[in-house]
Amino acid sequence: MPWSQCPLCGTLSQLLIRQDLESWYSTLFPTIPAGEIVPAKCFDCFPEIREGDSVELRNQNGERKAGASEGYVIKILSAPDGLLYKIQFENGVECLARFQFRKTRQYHPQNVTILKDGTLRISTSGIAQDGERWDGFEIVTKEHPHYQLWKTMASNAENNE
Ligand SMILES: [Zn+2]
Repeated sequence: MPWSQCPLCGTLSQLLIRQDLESWYSTLFPTIPAGEIVPAKCFDCFPEIREGDSVELRNQNGERKAGASEGYVIKILSAPDGLLYKIQFENGVECLARFQFRKTRQYHPQNVTILKDGTLRISTSGIAQDGERWDGFEIVTKEHPHYQLWKTMASNAENNE
């Protein structure tokens, strides 16, 4: 199964492709040989951000001058070199690049499977550019900042069955 790497944040994802691999590559990535890693935005960088959207920080290393890790987009600054997002946090406004935050999302415990080696398999799906629905998954290792959160939700779902 092919791997993709996000050109914005560097996240690696493994993709579950149902169609023939050669034709998948030649359709979506005609200049990349089948089997090679492909550049594709990750599930956090892919969604379009609009003013007013609720967002959450992705990397929370160090002190943050604006406090809370959740806020909303008050203004998008646009220029030929790219976009910057002014985000209102609890204690102030910060200007961030797209890879530093994501849309606030709900984790669905039924989409998380704990694998034998302790990593998590999180099912995802979406609509491709050609309108076809696609399904994939992310493998999340223990180093992932949300590993514990996902794992807890997965075991809660198991206990409720
Ligand atoms: Zn990304």
